[in-house]
Amino acid sequence: MSGPRAEVLAIGDELVHGSAVDTNSAWLARQLEDLGIAVVRFTVVSDTPAELDRALGQACARADLVVATGGLGPTEDDRTRHAAAAAAGVGLAFDPASWATIEAWFAARGRAAGEDNRRQALVPAGGVALPNRWGTAPGLRLGIGRCTLFALPGVPAEMRAMFEHCVVPGLRELFAARLNPVVHRTLNVLGPTEAALGARLEDVMAAVEGPVRVGITAHFGLLRVRIAATAADRESAAAAADAMADRLRPRLGEELVYEGDQSLAERVLAELREQGATVATAESCTGGLCAKVLTDLPGASEVFVGGIVCYANRSKVRDLGVPADLIEAQGAVSEPVAAALARGAAERFGAGFGLGITGIAGPDGGTADKPVGTVCFGLHARGSTRSWRRRIAPVSREFVRERSVFEALAALLRALREDPVPGEPGPPSPAR
Ligand code: ATP
Ligand code: MG
Repeated sequence: MSGPRAEVLAIGDELVHGSAVDTNSAWLARQLEDLGIAVVRFTVVSDTPAELDRALGQACARADLVVATGGLGPTEDDRTRHAAAAAAGVGLAFDPASWATIEAWFAARGRAAGEDNRRQALVPAGGVALPNRWGTAPGLRLGIGRCTLFALPGVPAEMRAMFEHCVVPGLRELFAARLNPVVHRTLNVLGPTEAALGARLEDVMAAVEGPVRVGITAHFGLLRVRIAATAADRESAAAAADAMADRLRPRLGEELVYEGDQSLAERVLAELREQGATVATAESCTGGLCAKVLTDLPGASEVFVGGIVCYANRSKVRDLGVPADLIEAQGAVSEPVAAALARGAAERFGAGFGLGITGIAGPDGGTADKPVGTVCFGLHARGSTRSWRRRIAPVSREFVRERSVFEALAALLRALREDPVPGEPGPPSPAR
């Protein structure tokens, strides 16, 4: 049996005027795909009644499922419930139960619901209000012909919470017999360009509709190879996904940094915690970004000791103990200086691992010898220090900096896997 066909509808003047970007649709599509529901079309439409009515009516006429976001607020221009009623050819009625939920939401915050909010308790005949515990606007579920419409608030956090709590259970009940489980595997790669990796995986990526699909997404040079496998049961889907991962690993070689959905920083933090190891940073061109991505994560205090942004040469000398004559002889962007930064960070903070990053983020400051994008890295690991240089594509200052942080963290992750910290309990099994 073929699975349901879904469309996603993003509603709001701000989206079509370009003052806000539709991120809801992409998020919803990923969730739906994970459930085994294929999304075949996105529509972004303004709040203008005629446009909204037409877009919503057409989507519901084409699809088995429409998930809409936005236009459920209390004001005149929030017309999603009206458009839904019009598409179904039914009237709107005031729903006292939904109103009670809205009033309770305000009361819990010491406020009273306004007259305007009564609009939000209107429900098309035959539909149900989806209670919103995260905001004021209730969602809506309504059958329109053979299509089921779920309308959710536009605010991304509310939309996501309501999707998980109100829509997913509904989808399972509606489409259970037609949904095939989907199992994902993610291989995270650092080194090749997206195009080069695409060429390497061309044969398996060509199968866009088969039971096992492979896609690449790129984020500042970190490439995620995502395998999605479907089958009649979860075990078969998992086996198919694993078989594809086994087939791809040899093609990725050393450039495969880690596997799974975690971010690289999360993976590094988890590995540090598992080993009871600690890290410190000395950053020049990344200006503290490496320290930031690590400390963005809860639990960082257990493993991240501290970092220094040593932007000027005199800070590299004074704060990290880099010999002034080394900078003089080799330049601030050089492997020996990167190594001295890494060692200096580890020693000054008393950490087992130290990272040093020094480079030319651009757009200015490049030379023939060291063009923009030249970045040198140092890694001090368990008493020994090594350093290396990369020519990062000078796409933008931001790209060079973000890509540099990935480079440093990937090297740290590799070093963490090499051997356990002497004198400290290692991981249960060295095979990872
Ligand atoms: P609420 O009553 O909670 O405001 P609503 O359904 O009326 O719900 P909107 O007024 O349309 O929501 O949007 C509220 C906020 O959510 C705005 O800041 C808007 O930019 C944001 N938003 C709306 N739609 C999207 C979308 N598709 N992607 C990302 N953000 C969105
Ligand atoms: Mg709106």
